[in-house]
Amino acid sequence: MAIDCKRFCPEVRLCCQETEMTITRKDAKRINALGYSTSDYSHRVIGSFSELKNVDGHCYFYDPASKECKIYEARPEGCRWYPVVYHYTKRKCLGDDVCPASPNLTRTEIRNVCHKVRRLVEELRREAAHGESPC
Ligand code: SF4
Repeated sequence: MAIDCKRFCPEVRLCCQETEMTITRKDAKRINALGYSTSDYSHRVIGSFSELKNVDGHCYFYDPASKECKIYEARPEGCRWYPVVYHYTKRKCLGDDVCPASPNLTRTEIRNVCHKVRRLVEELRREAAHGESPC
């Protein structure tokens, strides 16, 4: 199961522009199995998290010609749940207000993936705290 962005965001793909998507070791393993090298598409950022790199203002894996993700089936887990994010202060999952399509998310869609988003956030934090982020 993943959020079906194409349902309400057929073309924009703002989330693939100037991306700050964090990745886990599992994400990197899955992507590297396609022949990529971690250092090509990701970099270490503040807090010891690893994020996808941008090239010419968009994610390394975004294809501006087709407006598609080149690794869609293997994309990072965070990309699968976006625009659902975990809000620490409110202690709940919400649609990211940076995404113009967030208001179109249904409560059911958010509820259905919230436990996965929370688990992912914990995994990212654990890897960063132990210096185990993928790059
Ligand atoms: S990996 Fe794919 S879905 Fe995720 S930000 Fe990059 S282009 Fe977009």
